[in-house]
Amino acid sequence: MTVAPRSVTTAPVKGKRVFVRVDFNVPLEGETITDDTRITAAMPTITWLREHGARIILASHLGRPKGQRTPKYSMTPVAMRLEELVGQAVKLSDAITGPEAEDAANALKDGEILLLENLRFEPGEEKNDPAFARSLAKLADLYVNDAFGAAHRAHASTAGIADHLPAYAGLLMLGEIKALSKVVSNPERPFVAILGGAKVSDKLAVIDNLLAKVDALVIGGGMANTFLLAHGKEIGTSLAEADLVDQATSILDQAKQRNVQILLPVDVIVADSIDAAAGTTVKVDQVPADQAIFDIGPETATAYAQAIESARTIFWNGPMGVFEKAPFSTGTRAVAAAVAKSPGFSVVGGGDSVAAIEQLGFADRIDHISTGGGASLEYVEGRTLPGIAAIPTGEG
Ligand code: AMP
Repeated sequence: MTVAPRSVTTAPVKGKRVFVRVDFNVPLEGETITDDTRITAAMPTITWLREHGARIILASHLGRPKGQRTPKYSMTPVAMRLEELVGQAVKLSDAITGPEAEDAANALKDGEILLLENLRFEPGEEKNDPAFARSLAKLADLYVNDAFGAAHRAHASTAGIADHLPAYAGLLMLGEIKALSKVVSNPERPFVAILGGAKVSDKLAVIDNLLAKVDALVIGGGMANTFLLAHGKEIGTSLAEADLVDQATSILDQAKQRNVQILLPVDVIVADSIDAAAGTTVKVDQVPADQAIFDIGPETATAYAQAIESARTIFWNGPMGVFEKAPFSTGTRAVAAAVAKSPGFSVVGGGDSVAAIEQLGFADRIDHISTGGGASLEYVEGRTLPGIAAIPTGEG
């Protein structure tokens, strides 16, 4: 038995208006959705609600319209894709709250779906404004949060609304919590965490928390450079956070005391510019003064792959290099392949890491691909996520 937020499957939804906070924050090129994973990920909850006669009101944010009605962030493309996926009409309500939205919600019949316009068109959403939360709650009888990707934010639709309606967790939310809690609470050993991405500052808290849990920490990407500085290496013009070198040193000391192995690059790919057509492999103590590190080198990738393949639990967030550029994508791809190959329980979060897994066709060899990069990191940090804390617990 684990303590988790109570499940939507325990909610008396028949004939009830159910406000479902989903994460439909999909990437768009113009009006084309380039990846609909976040919509398909919400389908189990939507399907369950339809089959149980709920009157479904879906709401999400999309992009960063910052409280302004911005046509390019309209939910129209999402409504169209959703109609295709559910095979029934989805009405898009331009009004987010107020009489017009309430009329649309009240007109729903059992199993019908209404989608509200982008919640972030309203300034009250990100401010978690109590009046806005109350007006959202007026649309419904019950509240379901299935937006794991937004659960680390205390916004009106992820937190405030739960003060006014009986709250439940959706199936995607519960799946995320189940996978991540397995990593945080009861990992099979060895537990290897792989962290990459641009900055150490973004990940200091998670490193601190993970040191108490992991057997090895594999570090790549721009954030590895600050650790290389802590080791006294010259890193040329590489991205680094010089003001965090002391903290990096303290992390390395703590790791030694705790017997946690920290894997850092032994060789790297350098170039004079991020737009270079190719890079050069050098040892970490031979980085030219006028060049920058843009990826881990092949020897490093092999060492990282060995550690990953012998792990029983893996958590990966963040690329090993400038993955968006082909000459600097090799390290991230090698790590993706190793995570896929490893028999250990694997959880991958964060846009670039998930993209690498998907581009290589390895998605079905990963135990859990998180729909929330920031939220999964905060969960692993051991922080309380407001969107989860707002839901009473149940047993499951
Ligand atoms: P994050 O958002 O922190 O996960 O960082 C992802 C970004 O880090 C990607 O856009 C990468 O291009 C960037 N990145 C990874 N490695 C490096 C590096 N060595 N130098 C500069 N940027 C990097």
